[in-house]
Amino acid sequence: MDYNDLIFEISQPGRIASSLPESDVASIDLTAKFPAHLVRKAPAELPEVSEPQLMRHYTALSNKNFGVDNGFYPLGSCTMKYNPKINEDVARLAGFAKIHPFQPAETVQGAFELMYELQEDLKVISGMDAISLQPAAGAQGEWTGLIMMKAFHQKNGDGETRTKILVPDSAHGTNPSSAFIAGFDVIEIPSNKEGTVDLEELKKQVGPDTAGLMLTNPNTLGIFEKDILAMSEIVHEAGGLLYYDGANLNAIMGKVTPGAMGFDIVHLNLHKSFSTPHGGGGPGSGPVGVKAFLEPYLPIPRIERKGEQFGLAENYPLSIGRVKGYFGNFGVNVRAYTYIRTMGPVGLRQVAESAVLHANYLRKRLEPYFDVSHKQFCKHEFVLSGLRQKKLGVRTMDMAKRLLDFGYYAPTVYFPLIVEEAMMIEPTETETKETLDAFADTLIQIAKEVEETPEVVLEAPHQTFVKRMDEVQAARKLILTYKKE
Ligand SMILES: *Cc1c(COP(=O)(O)O)cnc(C)c1O
Repeated sequence: MDYNDLIFEISQPGRIASSLPESDVASIDLTAKFPAHLVRKAPAELPEVSEPQLMRHYTALSNKNFGVDNGFYPLGSCTMKYNPKINEDVARLAGFAKIHPFQPAETVQGAFELMYELQEDLKVISGMDAISLQPAAGAQGEWTGLIMMKAFHQKNGDGETRTKILVPDSAHGTNPSSAFIAGFDVIEIPSNKEGTVDLEELKKQVGPDTAGLMLTNPNTLGIFEKDILAMSEIVHEAGGLLYYDGANLNAIMGKVTPGAMGFDIVHLNLHKSFSTPHGGGGPGSGPVGVKAFLEPYLPIPRIERKGEQFGLAENYPLSIGRVKGYFGNFGVNVRAYTYIRTMGPVGLRQVAESAVLHANYLRKRLEPYFDVSHKQFCKHEFVLSGLRQKKLGVRTMDMAKRLLDFGYYAPTVYFPLIVEEAMMIEPTETETKETLDAFADTLIQIAKEVEETPEVVLEAPHQTFVKRMDEVQAARKLILTYKKE
């Protein structure tokens, strides 16, 4: 239809409407199928909205949302770094976005090749011999790794005796819960004054009942475990396996690998260390990597290369089976692959170096104003304590709320549990020095407010859409009714 035809069409009132059929659904006599008293007398009042109304509704919601594209998001342990938009361009290519997992292999060779190449890259980055991209999150990667550990001990006839997983008290919270869900007993290993695993305590707990050790490194204090080689020796000598929680590989990638540290199993969080948008339960990817002797246990199907062709292989009798539908969260894997390829080995190492530099810069600027449980170099994140402010009647939660007034997302609070009134700050490498300084200035100002005008902090936030709410009631008495405006 050309322009003149269109003008003609819309200048004829009723023409378009009258050419539409009344309804293309045959009417049904409902009283013939249902008891009369259950049939509506009048049609249901269904919400009808126009396209602009719908658009405004979702745009308004998105404006209320806060993301890395809006501002600084120092949520410790979550690595809310900027997601380069080239990742999105690549993930939206029709050849990736519009394919179906049941398509014949020969029609999706590019997708298989991408997954194969991503596995190859992750092998190098983690120092492992084989990778599965199936797990959809870090926690699922942990569970997958532990189930493989269990299968390995069972194969060796040790399944009944090796029932314990040793987990330091500085581990991420998912570690003990994954071990528990995988059917193990969890033994907590305390940290020493430096915030690293106490080797003497570890030696006391290691024995013939040890299935393995799960180590978060850097630990949740942001500290690199300095005795890592001694730990791996102690656990291996006792016949246990070593699991590395590599969710925060962004602190060490390109510098050192879990493989070189003696670990047998690792998971990575592609949705943290390798950018890709996440949060609010959004899609993740938690690949697991293993040393060669555990490869037969990896989830199936595995992606295989035969000459120039890629396909799926199921014939691994020792495999723990499938842990996720299809091949993991493919879209996240495409983004992570794009990220790795655009950064290159040198770029990935610079990520780790800058992430660590930024965290230490911010730590040094803030240390005089807060209590610090472990005063030493950190990796990608660090933990402050609001104990000094608590003595003045203001708690970490209040300071976190006050930060919202200045357009920041709050740090992780009250975690790790081993630090009182904890504030866990992870700046990431994608922020500028100006942003880090502005954030430090703000937090220092809040510390001064605590001393001079505590009510301003106690009643915060003042500038947000929603004033302070009762979070316990919000969770326990969730109100989901629709309010007509
Ligand atoms: C985020 C994180 C996890 C859990 O990852 P999810 O993808 O949220 O399940 C595990 N360990 C560490 C150290 C983490 O930072």
